[in-house]
Amino acid sequence: MENWIINEIEQIAQFGQDKRGITRLAFSKEDYAAREYVVKLMQESGLTVRIDEIGNIIGRINGTDAAAPAVVTGSHLDTVPEGGKFDGIVGVVGGIAALKTLKERGPLTHPLELIVFAAEESSRFGVATIGSRVMAGLTNVHALNKLKDQDGISLAKLLQEKGLDIQHVTRAVRMKQEIKAFIELHIEQGTALEREGKPIGIIEAIAAPARCKIIVEGVASHSGTTPMEDRQDALVSAAMIILAVNEIALEQAERGIVGTVGAMKVYPGAMNVIPGLVEMWVDIRGVDHQSIIECVQEIKDAVSEITKRQNTGVSIEMLSSERPARMDDEMVQLLSTVCRQQGIPYYKMNSGAGHDAMNISRITKAGMIVIPCRAGISHNPDEYATPEDIITGVKVLTEALYQLAK
Ligand SMILES: [Zn+2]
Repeated sequence: MENWIINEIEQIAQFGQDKRGITRLAFSKEDYAAREYVVKLMQESGLTVRIDEIGNIIGRINGTDAAAPAVVTGSHLDTVPEGGKFDGIVGVVGGIAALKTLKERGPLTHPLELIVFAAEESSRFGVATIGSRVMAGLTNVHALNKLKDQDGISLAKLLQEKGLDIQHVTRAVRMKQEIKAFIELHIEQGTALEREGKPIGIIEAIAAPARCKIIVEGVASHSGTTPMEDRQDALVSAAMIILAVNEIALEQAERGIVGTVGAMKVYPGAMNVIPGLVEMWVDIRGVDHQSIIECVQEIKDAVSEITKRQNTGVSIEMLSSERPARMDDEMVQLLSTVCRQQGIPYYKMNSGAGHDAMNISRITKAGMIVIPCRAGISHNPDEYATPEDIITGVKVLTEALYQLAK
């Protein structure tokens, strides 16, 4: 089984691979090729497979009690442009391996399911975790109908090409009583496990982003003739705002806050013109909703203070503000117990990256296992997890699913 897992991760890596990494955007030709391959793998492993209305692939092994709710694991196959081999894939291949092992061990009371969630990465439609969002009932046809990629191709059309009707997408919503628990296995995408020297991380909370767009208005004028004291330079104000965001996030760092100004546009953007307008995009994340709200408020206060002092105008538009997802205490307990029983060192931690588990946590008890990834590098062709750590992760997943489903 161990060789099987590592080999299948390598096989799947070939879909969308070129010299610069793996590009397998959601619902692309490459994604569909990988999905077809995985469906076959699931069937060969004894799972009954169906595809729901948003394109989630659901593989199932029945239990002895037909009425019992399912014990579920899952992750995703899509990647960012020029991504790596392990993000999402470890949870998919590891999940199939876990179900295969449990099927061979003999019948369990509860059914087991492996879900390959559609469109987890935000790279194509600007929205992340679409498949699990739909499954948890957290979005609607109206919002989904608006989604288009950069070439103007709509999600609705892509689904239609595969015989799926976006008007019926709510059929993919799962009821609370259908699912007993959910556990996702994933690479860490950070450096905490390497730092702690532990092979397993047990996630207690998944951070949620609050995002805003700040527009600073100054006056564009001649860079040679406008005296320094008469300037209303939007970029100077923007620079101060960047420093303020950094400082505020640093002050709140021990509460798990991180803050980033990741993108900026300067208008008119000429060397000899004082910048008249700057648009900037800010991403604040944390695991505690209250501290995110406070942090955003502090940034707003700082922005208005800076722009007043600099005699520039400002407007702030909140783009999104999501609630952090807490993993279920019982699942954290269960995963800790499994690790202790197997003599596997573990570390309880939060996840700064978003995952399908955060949506599924709204409808069932959810838990998450993460394994180290070298130097924390992810969304990059250099992404790497050792075979030993992958196998350890699958072992913990298998045992936890067994405990839940027996
Ligand atoms: Zn992922």
